[in-house]
Amino acid sequence: MDATILELKPKFVKLELTNTTASQVNSIRRTLLSDVPKLAIDDVEFHLGPIRDEATGKDYDSSTSMFDEAIALRLGLLPIPTDLGQFRRKSECTCGGAGCTHCQVMFSIDKKGPCTVYAKDVVPLGDNSLAILEPEVPLVRLGARQALLVYATAVVGTAREHAKWQVTQAVGASPHPHIKIQKHAGCTDACLKRAAASCPVNILEFSSGKVTVTDESKCILCWACEKSCEHGSIKVEPDETKHYLQYETDGSLTAREALRYALKDLKRRFEELREAVQAIP
Ligand SMILES: [Zn+2]
Repeated sequence: MDATILELKPKFVKLELTNTTASQVNSIRRTLLSDVPKLAIDDVEFHLGPIRDEATGKDYDSSTSMFDEAIALRLGLLPIPTDLGQFRRKSECTCGGAGCTHCQVMFSIDKKGPCTVYAKDVVPLGDNSLAILEPEVPLVRLGARQALLVYATAVVGTAREHAKWQVTQAVGASPHPHIKIQKHAGCTDACLKRAAASCPVNILEFSSGKVTVTDESKCILCWACEKSCEHGSIKVEPDETKHYLQYETDGSLTAREALRYALKDLKRRFEELREAVQAIP
């Protein structure tokens, strides 16, 4: 398999994969979706009962307009920058799962109303480089006598366990489309013109009795042009050896880091399979 990077941004990548098959590309797609680990808030402790502002002596109520469970769910979805060189799963940590700087991160929220609590109010304890990546995400509104005092713990997991640990979004793979145009008997200019106009991504151009393709790679394989001409002048055939793979990440890992991890993880799993097969007498 050969790979060419067509577009690379910190949180987005589009790759062209050649000399490959749909199943190989799909295995990368599924690994990117389910098996790349990241940090996400997994345990949330709410302070219950009155909350006193030490400076003013004013008492606040710890209840808000939302259920604690709903706030906890929102906290779980916030993207936390994850250095996979530093962090690992609790179950694989040298601390034996007790919780240390290599397997968990603590956050706190201490807000008093009236105000809106944002992601930026979820403050990491200690290392500020672990601050939430989307600071302006609103979490909950607090009324005049309401306050929120929360301690939250983030741990490493994968989307196999829960979607909050999903690093990549909109992971799409599609084969390269070949559009073949050959005017068949009975086909007319009007028919070809109609077929060219039926393309939803406008990559077919009709002029002086001919249809030309402006950018084959933009074809979304909808077969609208092929269906539009009943004479069979246009054929769209996916190339099964050449695929496009694109996805974005939530920022917890860069697109490059996610791909690197996914490929390493696939390799490890196939190695394990190979060893297991070899061990069969
Ligand atoms: Zn640990």
